[in-house]
Amino acid sequence: MTSLDDWIKYGDELRRPLLVNPKLGDSDSVVIVGGGLSGMCCAYRIATKRPNLKVTIIERSSQLGGVIATWQDGEWICDLAVNAARPHPAFWRLVDDLSLSDKFTTSSQEAKSRWILSAGRSHKLTWRTLFKLGPLRLRKSLKRARQGGVSVAQLIPNEPIADALCLGIVNDTADNVDADFLMPSLTKFGSEPPVKKSRLRKLISQSYPIFTPSRGSIASIEGGMQVIIDVLGKKLSSMDNVTIEYNQSAKSPASVAKQYAVPIESVVWAAPGLQESYAESQLSIFAVGYQNEIVSRVKIGYGTLIPDNNIPISGILNESDIHQSKRSPVGHRLFRLMVPHSRWDGDDQSVLNCAESLLGKKPVLFAKIGERSIPRYPPGYMSRLSQIEHDCTYVGWAVSGVSITHVVAEAERIAELF
Ligand SMILES: Cc1cc2nc3c(=O)[nH]c(=O)nc-3n(C[C@H](O)[C@H](O)[C@H](O)COP(=O)(O)OP(=O)(O)OC[C@H]3O[C@@H](n4cnc5c(N)ncnc54)[C@H](O)[C@@H]3O)c2cc1C
Repeated sequence: MTSLDDWIKYGDELRRPLLVNPKLGDSDSVVIVGGGLSGMCCAYRIATKRPNLKVTIIERSSQLGGVIATWQDGEWICDLAVNAARPHPAFWRLVDDLSLSDKFTTSSQEAKSRWILSAGRSHKLTWRTLFKLGPLRLRKSLKRARQGGVSVAQLIPNEPIADALCLGIVNDTADNVDADFLMPSLTKFGSEPPVKKSRLRKLISQSYPIFTPSRGSIASIEGGMQVIIDVLGKKLSSMDNVTIEYNQSAKSPASVAKQYAVPIESVVWAAPGLQESYAESQLSIFAVGYQNEIVSRVKIGYGTLIPDNNIPISGILNESDIHQSKRSPVGHRLFRLMVPHSRWDGDDQSVLNCAESLLGKKPVLFAKIGERSIPRYPPGYMSRLSQIEHDCTYVGWAVSGVSITHVVAEAERIAELF
């Protein structure tokens, strides 16, 4: 399925392998393992398209959403994982289908800037930063990356920039991250679109429901990402052909097929654990809030990435700057701190000290709001994925790409089989 219409619907997602069993579409009953955004979207898309087909979600925990959750304390609102979506029509379609359009807004135009803090100095990250690497060097590494299987460090020949990009997306350093998985359009993994990139971009931009996002913008939901999970969860619970089983941990696709008396091709694995070598990196997330005056020297922007192993905080997201909807009480600003466990002694005080030195003294809010794990995508990951033998269907961010736009688009592609 690589027609122009498909490219308009999914864009560069079509470069990624879809680990689907082609017989999935013939199923009378589908069992989905994992009730994160991926499992929920697959269930929603399939169950909507085929109301006579039975869909069961098995979720290990007592709630839906997986890594997505929003923490709230009075007027302070902070997402634990994803806080906004990059432009992709599939995500806009999901928001539209969930009737959440009136809560969905583009991020603040003033908060676009991102910085890298390296060797004690703050550098603004722009596309020009990449050109500063030297066009010849960059061209050479791009050419090499197109042979496949290289790391992001090999693709972007500047350690702090490459590390910062990877930290911001997958909580890992660039030499550990597969360039094909993170940036398939740059490495030209998979098939090419049937029209020029600029023409395709134009066609895609005309296909958005709700509003056409401007390039480089992001968009978020009033109240945080939990709102999407809650509305999607309610929709699923109200569908006659959907059953959700909580507190059930599946052992393997084969055991699920046996337990639910379905052929293995009717199992959709939307949980971690596709590869035996599956590994994750851990991080803790802190919310820190200040009165405006205390942080007046902190520029309004998206946030700062810190590729420095001697500092426990790897990234600061300026949450109350980013979103048009409210995330902090009037006169205050909220920041989210990402703290990889590989860089942290485990003492909250170290994080507070670091936050005070980077942002300002005496925050009015300082709270650890949770812990999360992110799959690792070592060099060669995407090539291995595309060759993996699979008897059931595998979806989710261990397969689809790391962002929510990937898992949402993947669910639509899977439902097209039905
Ligand atoms: C800190 C952080 C920041 C992020 N920032 C962004 C961002 O800015 N932009 C963006 O687009 N994306 C971001 N993401 C990624 C985004 O959140 C993920 O792409 C997406 O939520 C993954 O959804 P999923 O359903 O594939 O996986 P998960 O959310 O991991 O869901 C998997 C589900 O499977 C369940 N499960 C696991 N094992 C079993 C089992 N054996 N049996 C039954 N159930 C099981 C789990 O309990 C879980 O509910 C971020 C993620 C994190 C952690």
